[in-house]
Amino acid sequence: VLCVSQDFNFFYFVQQWPGSYCDTQKSCCYPTTGKPEADFGIHGLWPNYNDGSYPSNCDSSNSFQQSAISDLRSSLQKEWPTLACPSGNGIQFWSHEWEKHGTCSESVLQQHDYFEAALTLKQKSNLLQALNSAGIEANGGSYSLSSIKGAIKEATGYTPYIECNQDSSGNSQLYQVYQCVDTSASNFIECPVFPSGKCGSQIQFPSF
Ligand code: 5GP
Ligand code: 5GP
Ligand code: 5GP
Repeated sequence: VLCVSQDFNFFYFVQQWPGSYCDTQKSCCYPTTGKPEADFGIHGLWPNYNDGSYPSNCDSSNSFQQSAISDLRSSLQKEWPTLACPSGNGIQFWSHEWEKHGTCSESVLQQHDYFEAALTLKQKSNLLQALNSAGIEANGGSYSLSSIKGAIKEATGYTPYIECNQDSSGNSQLYQVYQCVDTSASNFIECPVFPSGKCGSQIQFPSF
């Protein structure tokens, strides 16, 4: 195969818990296609450097094309729903993610394959099942950060990074899960570097 210059080192594959996006001060809007199911949703697949920095908006000539993902549209609506306000059908969110992040890995994945890779990674990670198997349920209960990380490591083989946000009363809760993925976007790997940010020692997992 052709060897192209290494323009990034790995991906963060980031999923969001909709209950935690929606119960903050800012609130949320369901997509025009209806309330998403009570499952993690994809936020993005983000090229990253090993030093923790990352490229963004790499190719303004490669804008998002709806026609490139027409066969994936219903899967994306289910697995990559938008919760931002005002309600949308997803195109804006996917287009933002492609243009900000996806264009920085265009040397390995063009649009269709970029979105398809994210869908496949979501299936492989099966986060909700990983947590439920360890007795961690989205019922408003509190869990330790280490039990959440341990459950995901147990199921996937790799330690994730957990990002928390705060509900409207200020409680720390499970917002996003970061998993590291190799440059082919097909295999989970140990993270070369973790993002930084604080969770409480007890983290709520709200229902949705
Ligand atoms: P926030 O400031 O809300 O954590 O992140 C805002 C946006 O910056 C994210 O949605 C994402 O687009 C980008 N971002 C934040 N942290 C990272 C990172 O560690 N790696 C990459 N590639 N993008 C990030
Ligand atoms: P990032 O934080 O990846 O740079 O960009 C997130 C952008 O996508 C923000 O402009 C945000 O308003 C928009 N967006 C649309 N739907 C969602 C969603 O469901 N979750 C998040 N985190 N951002 C969304
Ligand atoms: P340790 O390296 O002992 O696991 O963690 C060192 C510090 O980083 C502790 O304050 C711990 O709470 C925090 N930390 C470890 N893993 C994560 C994580 O996945 N997410 C967040 N937000 N903090 C973490």
